[in-house]
Amino acid sequence: MSATILDGKAVAAQLLRDVGTRVQAAKARGVEATLAVILVGDDPASAVYVRNKERRAAEVGIATRDHRLPASTTAASLHALVRELDDDRGVDGILVQLPLPAGIPSEPVLLAVDPAKDVDGFHPDNLGRLMIGKPRFVACTPAGCMRLLAHAGATLAGARALVIGRSTIVGRPMAQLLLQADATVVQAHSRTRDLRAEVERADIVVAAVGRAELVRGEWIKPGAIVIDVGTNRTAEGRLVGDVDFAGALSRAAAITPVPGGVGPMTIACLLDNVALAAERRAGLVA
Ligand code: NAP
Repeated sequence: MSATILDGKAVAAQLLRDVGTRVQAAKARGVEATLAVILVGDDPASAVYVRNKERRAAEVGIATRDHRLPASTTAASLHALVRELDDDRGVDGILVQLPLPAGIPSEPVLLAVDPAKDVDGFHPDNLGRLMIGKPRFVACTPAGCMRLLAHAGATLAGARALVIGRSTIVGRPMAQLLLQADATVVQAHSRTRDLRAEVERADIVVAAVGRAELVRGEWIKPGAIVIDVGTNRTAEGRLVGDVDFAGALSRAAAITPVPGGVGPMTIACLLDNVALAAERRAGLVA
């Protein structure tokens, strides 16, 4: 058996077409979907991420407001900018690109973002709403993983789903979403005693760790669906996931590649959230 490779670029392109249509509908009501992007400092990787997000936003008709601040920016002036954007009725979403420079703790900044404009879904208010099954915005990467699982035709109800990683931006919301889809969820982390045994039992594996090829192909249960969130650079500069892709191919029913799997979905789901915020401002959805 050779796994179906889940093409995140194609699934993202489909979602972005829908986002574009909804953005136009909001525009027809006089609302221009607008994302404010804050980038502090000169981390080259962050600059690339921001450029990609802004380029994709432009492609679907979402306006962006670019706020580039020097690394010497103080926490106080960053907070003042966030508050200003919170109060700006023309802004639907606020994205604070992480990581912030050392010296600016990220948590108070993320808390300062109005939860109604928190299109990343990182605010505790939004995480809490997800927990009670009434989400306002779902964190983009887990939302993208759920879409990929749907695209793979995964039956989640009753399935044994393993989420490896418990960060608040990926692992935890991912486990919640799977639980709400009636999967039986196990959440693994660095203190999990026997990761191999957990993987061997799982019908669905979502790996969000950040360790190159930690999950060996021979651990994968035949017929399992594998979503690889990890992005890791090897010593040779190759981008690889948390799962041994070549090894898993002959066992899994479906698997996401790295790159080209979860990554494109994350950006598409961010823009989906911006469209949703604009639709709310336009009175098109609750
Ligand atoms: P993170 O905050 O560093 O969390 C990593 C998690 O992995 C932690 O919960 C940690 O456990 C767990 N872990 C570490 N070593 C482990 C081991 N040996 N066995 C099992 N679990 C282990 O990372 P993150 O922000 O969630 O991101 C995870 C990965 O996804 C990274 O590679 C990141 O680059 C990637 N990512 C990709 C996208 C995308 O769009 N493609 C988006 C976001 C993140 P403890 O909690 O016990 O420390």
